[in-house]
Amino acid sequence: VIPVITLDGPGGAGKGTISQIIAGKLGWRLLDSGALYRLTALAAERRGVSFDDEVALSEVARNLDVAFLPGEENEPVRVMLEGTEVSKDLRTETCGNNASKVAALNGVRDALLQRQRDFREAPGVVADGRDMGTVVFTDAPLKIYLTASAEERASRRVKQLQGKGIDAKFQAILSEIQTRDERDMNRAVAPLKPADDAITLDTTNMSIPEVVNHIIELAGE
Ligand code: C5P
Repeated sequence: VIPVITLDGPGGAGKGTISQIIAGKLGWRLLDSGALYRLTALAAERRGVSFDDEVALSEVARNLDVAFLPGEENEPVRVMLEGTEVSKDLRTETCGNNASKVAALNGVRDALLQRQRDFREAPGVVADGRDMGTVVFTDAPLKIYLTASAEERASRRVKQLQGKGIDAKFQAILSEIQTRDERDMNRAVAPLKPADDAITLDTTNMSIPEVVNHIIELAGE
């Protein structure tokens, strides 16, 4: 069986950065499942599909024309939607918020399920998301639930945005994070929660290398 490390948890817990580093160190594939929900939201917006039209949104998700191209050295992957790069468009707070709306729809989740499972290729995959351990890769030998206090996650997000020259207000980001977490945790389908067999890591007071090393040790790789 092809090994999988699942990393689930709320937004801003560091899953993206940490998954990318672990995948790089192990030479495994990376599945950024959040990008698929963000892409669905972006494609829907561009086509003028309403965020309450489950049937149309599910069609958008099923027919997504996307490619994940390897970035230059030490650069993240480049995400292509219908042949044009959308990496930056995907990272906005609006896109994340819209992604969380479309992600609450069963039809959309169903449409993306097989696409996510197809990422499982030798020698292994690191899967970043909300339901990687509870739905998509229930048989994964190592499941991590990464969390951190909402304040810590908000302040990390502010720093990340400021690093990109984007002016960000702590209170506004904190309230966006809380709204999104609430929606993700309380939805009827695939709510955000740790899998029964997940190991929870609270990263509030941990550095990125500490978290990475801890997970690699747990993986025994
Ligand atoms: O992780 P990211 O911020 O890119 O995810 C955007 C949104 O997509 C999340 O807030 C969540 O609602 C949704 N999502 C999901 N299941 C996943 C990954 C992301 O529902 N596996």
